[in-house]
Amino acid sequence: METNIEIQKGQLIEIKQLNRHVFHLKIQSEDFDKMQYVPGFTLDIYLGNGEILSNLETRKYSIWNYEPVHQIIDVAICTFSNGKGAHWVSTLKNGDILYFNPPKGKLLINESADYYYLIGDITSLSHLYEINRNLSINKKVFSFIYAYSQRDIFPDIDGSFPFDYYVINPLIPELVQQKIEALEPDFSGTGFAYILGEPKTVITLHDYFKNQKKWNSNQLRSKPFWKEIKDI
Ligand SMILES: Cc1cc2nc3c(=O)[nH]c(=O)nc-3n(C[C@H](O)[C@H](O)[C@H](O)COP(=O)(O)OP(=O)(O)OC[C@H]3O[C@@H](n4cnc5c(N)ncnc54)[C@H](O)[C@@H]3O)c2cc1C
Repeated sequence: METNIEIQKGQLIEIKQLNRHVFHLKIQSEDFDKMQYVPGFTLDIYLGNGEILSNLETRKYSIWNYEPVHQIIDVAICTFSNGKGAHWVSTLKNGDILYFNPPKGKLLINESADYYYLIGDITSLSHLYEINRNLSINKKVFSFIYAYSQRDIFPDIDGSFPFDYYVINPLIPELVQQKIEALEPDFSGTGFAYILGEPKTVITLHDYFKNQKKWNSNQLRSKPFWKEIKDI
C-alpha cells in the first residue's frame, strides 16, 4: 500500500463522447511538467475530490497522448463495465477539476524489439494507439483489436485507424487465439507483445505465447484491465 502520495490536480478542458461506450477527456495540468513521460504511462484518477475525501477510490486510465507544451493529457474512458468509474465519467463537464496520483506505468514502450504484437480490446485501445504511434517507423507491427460491435471502435487521436479490428461477439478467448494463429505474419528478428484488455482473453493469449510459441516472459507485457466477478 502506497502512503503519502502527492495528489495532483488538473482541469478538464474538454470532454466528448466518441460513441456509446467511450468518452474522450483532455486534462490540462501544470503538475504534468513534473513527470518524465514515457508512452505507456497511466493515470490513477480519483472518482471525486481526492483532496478532501479520504479513501476515495481511483481508477486507472491509460495516457492516450501527452502534449508537453500546453501540458495536456488525453484519456479514453469506457463505460462497458457500468461500474463506478463509468458512472463518474458521465457526470463530468468542461472546467471540472480532476484529482490524480502522479502518472507512472508498467506497460511502457519497449523499443528494443524488431517487431511487435499489439493485441487488446476497446478498453485498452488508447494504450495500444499510444505505444504504436511512438514506435519508430521501421518496426513491424501485427495488430489485433477485438470488439463486441463495430460501433465501439474509435480512431486514434489523429483520426487514423492504424490497426486491424475484429468484431467478436460473444467473445470467446479460444476463438481469438485461433484467429491470431491463422493470421500470424512471418516476421524475423525479436518480437515483443502487448496483450491487454479482457481478463480471460489476456490469460489465454499469454499462455499461447509462452507455451506454444515459446516466447520468454521478458518478451510479453500481459495485463487484464479489470478483475472478473467470480461466477456464483
Ligand atoms: C493498466 C491499466 C490501464 C487501464 N486503462 C484504461 C483506459 O484507458 N480506459 C478505460 O476505460 N479503462 C482502463 N482501465 C480499466 C479501468 O481502470 C477500470 O478498471 C475499468 O474502467 C472499470 O472501472 P469501473 O469503475 O467502470 O467498473 P468497476 O466498478 O471497477 O467494475 C464493475 C464490473 O464490471 C466489469 N468490468 C470492468 N471493466 C469492464 C470492461 N471494460 N468491460 C466489461 N466489463 C468490465 C468487471 O467484472 C467489474 O467487476 C485500465 C486498467 C489498467 C489495469
